[in-house]
Amino acid sequence: MPGPVIVIGAGSIGIAVAYYLVRHHRVRGVILVDPLDPMSLTSAQSGENYRNWWPHPVMTAFTDDSIGLLEQISAESGNRINMTRRGYALVTRRAAPTELIDDLHRGYGVAAGQLIRIHEGQGAGASYTPPVSAAWDQAPDGVDVLCDQALIRRVFPTYAPDVATVLHIRRAGAISGQQLGQVMLEAIRAAGGRLLRGRVAAIEGAAPFALAVQTADGPITLRADRLVNAAGPFVGEVAALLGETLPVSCVYQQKIAFADRHAAIPRTLPFTIDLDGQELSWSEEERSILAEDPAAARLLAPMPGGIHCRPDGAADGQWIKLGWAYNTEASDPHADAPSDPQFPDTVLRAASRLHPALKAYIGHLPRGAHHYGGYYAMTAENWPLIGPMQTRGAYLAGAMSGFGTMAACAAGSLCAAWVMGGALPSYAPALSPGRYQDTAIMSELAAMRTRGVL
Ligand SMILES: Cc1cc2nc3c(=O)[nH]c(=O)nc-3n(C[C@H](O)[C@H](O)[C@H](O)COP(=O)(O)OP(=O)(O)OC[C@H]3O[C@@H](n4cnc5c(N)ncnc54)[C@H](O)[C@@H]3O)c2cc1C
Repeated sequence: MPGPVIVIGAGSIGIAVAYYLVRHHRVRGVILVDPLDPMSLTSAQSGENYRNWWPHPVMTAFTDDSIGLLEQISAESGNRINMTRRGYALVTRRAAPTELIDDLHRGYGVAAGQLIRIHEGQGAGASYTPPVSAAWDQAPDGVDVLCDQALIRRVFPTYAPDVATVLHIRRAGAISGQQLGQVMLEAIRAAGGRLLRGRVAAIEGAAPFALAVQTADGPITLRADRLVNAAGPFVGEVAALLGETLPVSCVYQQKIAFADRHAAIPRTLPFTIDLDGQELSWSEEERSILAEDPAAARLLAPMPGGIHCRPDGAADGQWIKLGWAYNTEASDPHADAPSDPQFPDTVLRAASRLHPALKAYIGHLPRGAHHYGGYYAMTAENWPLIGPMQTRGAYLAGAMSGFGTMAACAAGSLCAAWVMGGALPSYAPALSPGRYQDTAIMSELAAMRTRGVL
């Protein structure tokens, strides 16, 4: 009879690993160890969006599986996880953006022919269903590529009129990640699993392991036959306790949320991403102030695309969220968060290019606006690391970057299968630490135009 399994970290990923150990492999008595409240670190900062749009079929298959598992949990729980599906709308001012269409074909692989619908010319949009309903089980699959400006104006009247193409990804939307964690924790507890408040400070041995855990009542030792490192931004630190190094860095990303009192953003709008880069518009006075501050001077240079915006919460609510993952500099997650006080103003200015009604908030962000952020723990290629570590009996589920909420279920199911020797999906080797030995996949990744960071 195999001994206990310990999961280090009770964020979305550690909880999902424990859940699928219970659900798919009937493991009893799994222990989740974390010094913090469950789901309270990176997982509390998530925008909680999901999509099956990726520039490579491995990530498409992985997130497709995860969305399928989310749908299963939604159906079984009476949608306690608030799963909705209004899609992702990727917007550009370019007509005929061939490289974006090529990316769609590459990402959807052999299924692309059936999944991609181009709406152009006379009668454009005749077979297009606008995202009126939020219900995930009523939304279409695939991608609608809207190339007709009259159609775009009709469906998305609040976008700026210069938008020429919208790629509407339909298997995409939002969930409540916190609710998902809650549903999973209930199932883990029902199978005799538990949460232990403590920080893993040292690990001895390799299957069996002795873990030194610091708790509020003093140090204790836990024994395990197998352990899972799901420590989020600290996966590298936990790997170091086993004498291993991981190619993972932590990049801080920020968002703002506020009550949209001017109703600038329609409540039925899909999660919308402005793909085009831009130079922010500043007055001469603002320019000279920014130029004096080395940290802010970058805002005068051309900025990348990827500004996102969506209504948050209930259809009759008011809150909206804006984000822009333009930071590329890694930092130490132990240090103070590198939060940029300029960010709320920057993201508002950038987002108001596509959503002109947001201009009303520049310099007048409502009281109670929330500016927050967290770390994308990521590999250089922006693929996760899920599978066996070098140490026998140790497994990893990390480097979940900006996709850990949407991919939690597939990451949990995959890691649980590795731990228990279960059947693995075809993409398992490519997402495992073993991929660095696969020169074919690594050179394919190095040659890619985009890494799908949002
Ligand atoms: C601003 C932002 C927006 C995002 N938006 C989205 C989105 O829209 N959609 C999406 O899918 N994803 C999104 N993400 C990504 C997603 O939030 C993360 O990928 C996911 O939360 C990572 O979960 P985790 O369990 O790996 O990490 P965490 O939630 O950080 O959990 C790790 C846990 O490990 C614990 N731990 C660390 N060291 C130890 C130790 N030594 N001993 C015991 N416990 C330890 C920590 O205390 C922590 O609780 C976003 C992330 C950010 C920052």
